[in-house]
Amino acid sequence: MSLISDAALDELKRRNPCDMVASKWVSLRASAGKMVGPCPICSPNRFSKSAARFEATADSWVCAVCQDGGDVIRLVRLVEGRDFRSAVEWLGGAQDPDPAAAARHAKERADRKAKAEQDAAKFREQERARLHRIWEHGEPLAGSLAADYLAGRGIKAPPGARLRCHPEMYYFHGETRDESGRRNPRMIHTGPAMVAAIVGPDGRFSGIHITYLDAATAKKAVIIDPDSGEILPAKKVRGSKRGGYIHLGGDVTRARTLDIGEGIETVLSVRQALVQAGRDIDDCLFWSSIDLGNLGGKATQTVPHPTLTWRNELGHVRRQRLPGPVPDLDEPSIPVPDRIDNVILLGDGDSDRELTKNALLRAARRFRKPGRAIRAAWADAGKDFNDMLQEEMAG
Ligand SMILES: [Zn+2]
Repeated sequence: MSLISDAALDELKRRNPCDMVASKWVSLRASAGKMVGPCPICSPNRFSKSAARFEATADSWVCAVCQDGGDVIRLVRLVEGRDFRSAVEWLGGAQDPDPAAAARHAKERADRKAKAEQDAAKFREQERARLHRIWEHGEPLAGSLAADYLAGRGIKAPPGARLRCHPEMYYFHGETRDESGRRNPRMIHTGPAMVAAIVGPDGRFSGIHITYLDAATAKKAVIIDPDSGEILPAKKVRGSKRGGYIHLGGDVTRARTLDIGEGIETVLSVRQALVQAGRDIDDCLFWSSIDLGNLGGKATQTVPHPTLTWRNELGHVRRQRLPGPVPDLDEPSIPVPDRIDNVILLGDGDSDRELTKNALLRAARRFRKPGRAIRAAWADAGKDFNDMLQEEMAG
């Protein structure tokens, strides 16, 4: 078996821009200089116009739910379940280019990468400062519209929860171009929102989680894409959530138990149910992992979904793949304090069961340490913990 040279691989990647290849599987749209949309690995709806978990440029891709990313070859390997060499074949095979062209392409690629990294780092720091100002401008939760929203779902957040209410939050979706061709994020809505502070794996403020609210009903706002008429998610994350969490109650200096789950409402519902059952929660910590992918972190590989399939452009039925149960331990994850000896992973019946199960398995393996018990608590199938809490109160 012959070795594939770096120059041949570069040439292969140049012929197969990552965003173009991804567009064979899912429908992507332009946003802030990237292509975004559903993920060809983990999104059940490949044509969703509101999905934004997957981002691709010519050189690379990243998925927030898979917590994975890389070059076009890794993408083909994960989507098609192929090994390296067969992914290279799938992309048309690798041929050595002539040396002059190879050198030119390598330099173009290196320049593009350096510029992209520089821009991204600058944007991240500016965005972090901007988001921190937004957080600081939020009003206390007590007595706010956000507190009404939670109360409407039967939840009262404890005073320590890192939640605030912002009177006027912008919602960006897609982009606009001005006369000079410069692309800008497009603002399609402004209104009140519940804002949660995200703490990164290094313990610093790293971003915010936003739930847009309707002032008239104190429910989630209905936000509509002006182009497609599609309803967009009422929740958004800005800044970095990777390896981060939202603190929703408990004293981190003395807690022995951590209750951690995907959504803010899920975790607060579980806390509420414990309080109502008269349980002592003095030594419990309550954290939201923001989303399922972040709870389990990056997987080493994808696995075939037991039931879900999709049809490729030739009409062949293919098995959907999803992030597997084995965590990639080189990647950052939520920092569970050392003193915690009891972790309860909250699984919602709301999301795909397999996706949830694998995320919980990865989290359990990540958080494992001697003397620590790790359990999963499942909401009834098809219901999240908040539905269950509300039913219990109604009955
Ligand atoms: Zn994905």
